[in-house]
Amino acid sequence: MILTQCAVCATELGLSLGKKCGRCSTRYCGPECQVQHWKEGGHDNLCKKIKKAGGAEQYNANTKYAEAVAVTAEACAEDTKGQTCYICTQALHWKTKESLVRGCSCRGTAGFAHVSCLEEQAKILCAEAEENNLGAKVFNERWARWHTCSLCEQWYHGVVRCALGWACWKTYVGRAETDQVRGMAMTELGNGLSAAGHHEDALSVGDAELATARRLGAPAESILVLQTNLACTYGRLGRFEEAVSIRRNVYFGLLKIEGEESRNTLLEANNYAADLRCLKRFKEAKSLMRKPVLVSRRVLGDNDRLTLKIRWTYATALYMDDGATVDDLREAVTTLEDTDRIARRVMGGGHPLTLDLQDCLRNAQATLRARETPSGSA
Ligand SMILES: [Zn+2]
Ligand SMILES: [Zn+2]
Ligand SMILES: [Zn+2]
Ligand SMILES: [Zn+2]
Repeated sequence: MILTQCAVCATELGLSLGKKCGRCSTRYCGPECQVQHWKEGGHDNLCKKIKKAGGAEQYNANTKYAEAVAVTAEACAEDTKGQTCYICTQALHWKTKESLVRGCSCRGTAGFAHVSCLEEQAKILCAEAEENNLGAKVFNERWARWHTCSLCEQWYHGVVRCALGWACWKTYVGRAETDQVRGMAMTELGNGLSAAGHHEDALSVGDAELATARRLGAPAESILVLQTNLACTYGRLGRFEEAVSIRRNVYFGLLKIEGEESRNTLLEANNYAADLRCLKRFKEAKSLMRKPVLVSRRVLGDNDRLTLKIRWTYATALYMDDGATVDDLREAVTTLEDTDRIARRVMGGGHPLTLDLQDCLRNAQATLRARETPSGSA
């Protein structure tokens, strides 16, 4: 979605290959596509307009933003009927004529706004923090306005998050590639696209982000964070092979940088094993998780939510494997019984995690029973 393809034939160009239009920076794989675009693709008419808007990336961001605002207002039409914007107090935006949206945890008559008004608010707050050198802490607090509602302090979700992602990207896309804020805006766009279910687009943004970070020599920690996001996107697309190979990298990277007792390392071990499980590579998941199970229980404690998840992942890898021994199945059942008890105590019986755990426990018990009956192979 950030322009990494030939504008005509969609050949992948990465961040630097190909040929640019000298006026507007639209990119092509080569002169043939460029000529064709000019003669038949309408570029002769658009080129000036794109240049005036600030170049191909800016023009694309503006266009996608406008589309996203229209889609979002449409999706929110029912919810926002008869309401007014809490920022400009109008129903229809005075300048853009856009209608209202809401996509956070605000209820009742609270939280209705125009995407433009939310954008303006975030833009002004961040600009003020930069101009007055208010420091990283204040800047980051204000940056939250791009993804979090100032009234209910909850993340925007779905199409609203996506529209704000485009708003953020169009605001900062013109900055130098080395400017950290441009990278942050790219992250907002990627998260927004994911929130609206546009995972293919989120993937190309994630790829571009990672390639940029590598080229600029970003620290290993930042690269690992970007890789984690990318692995999540691959997972959402059901592309677990790709997800697993990235997870592997991230896990061993974290192991080296932060050590086996770090929460990040344990979390990534769990993500890696969960993706292995999706590929039915249970043996690998099992042997990967053995150590993290012990470490998380010792370092985080049995009541920690991550410890519960890690033990759960381990137990499911144990019982879902067709080659599991009766001992494996017993261990899985014992582990799930124990985590179920803890989950009910810590999070309550109605919590989604507790309910999922109970489902797993029932499955594991059924698998064990089937194996222990005389006709079984045990
Ligand atoms: Zn081409
Ligand atoms: Zn051009
Ligand atoms: Zn407004
Ligand atoms: Zn809210």
